[in-house]
Amino acid sequence: DSVRLKKPDWIRVKAPGGKGYADTHKIMRDNGLVTVCEEAGCPNVGECWSQGHATMMIMGEVCTRACTFCNIATGKPPEALDVFEPGRVASAVKKLGLNHVVITSVDRDDVKDGGAEHFAQTIRAVRQQSPSTTIEILTPDFIRCAPEALEVVVAAKPDVFNHNLETVPGLYPEVRPGARYFHSLRLLQRVKELDPSMFTKSGIMVGLGEGRQAVLQVMEDMRAADIDFLTIGQYLQPTPKHHAVDRFVTPEEFKSYETAAYGKGFLMVSATPLTRSSYHAGDDFAQLRTA
Ligand code: SF4
Ligand code: SF4
Repeated sequence: DSVRLKKPDWIRVKAPGGKGYADTHKIMRDNGLVTVCEEAGCPNVGECWSQGHATMMIMGEVCTRACTFCNIATGKPPEALDVFEPGRVASAVKKLGLNHVVITSVDRDDVKDGGAEHFAQTIRAVRQQSPSTTIEILTPDFIRCAPEALEVVVAAKPDVFNHNLETVPGLYPEVRPGARYFHSLRLLQRVKELDPSMFTKSGIMVGLGEGRQAVLQVMEDMRAADIDFLTIGQYLQPTPKHHAVDRFVTPEEFKSYETAAYGKGFLMVSATPLTRSSYHAGDDFAQLRTA
């Protein structure tokens, strides 16, 4: 496990820098906001931030889960939810002048509703200050919560409801302990049942040790749960302590996943080595709306 695979030349990233990057950085700092771009060490941060795209992470910096691929700190969150955070997110979205915003969070299994009301308040605050901005949320699985938790979030009417399956079911015990594959699928299906006008989205990482057939089966399961959008990206190991990269999936294989996914009826698919859940989310969504 200590041998780290060398990154192939198709995993090339732009180094962060420039005015756009600095402006985004300043708005985040001034508003005391945490971004998943930084916390997760996302390889696209140079490109995204230079265009003012950032994914805000609410409910703190410490997660109550410990997924083995994830670079976010885990443990017992030191603080209660910050009631002023929804307002700060809304003011940052306004300052950034975003057409589309992605808001995610850590998991807060220590909070009774898993942070559902906090998510809903954040959506409403952004909506109020930036009515034309489309809102995409990337949520926890609310697995320890009453069913009403999900209803509270859906009732706040985000435009896109995203929840990542992350990997194939066979790798859950190793990669995503604490989560359940079919619970996450069902969560997304319930979103669609509660509000058929809402777009649903999910994603997986590849290169963790999954096989092609298992990936195709995940696509089938997602379509059976009425999921509209799919993202597939290469897993990159954040530190040597995290799950090892099993292999680097070639750009051709990504292309073939994309073709297969469109064949199965997804409305929008992003499958490239550097695809992340929130990568170009706004551009893709805008294209879909004008199509
Ligand atoms: Fe941030 Fe998403 Fe862009 Fe990565 S892909 S830098 S997480 S907005
Ligand atoms: Fe990371 Fe999300 Fe897993 Fe928490 S639940 S460890 S933030 S992937």
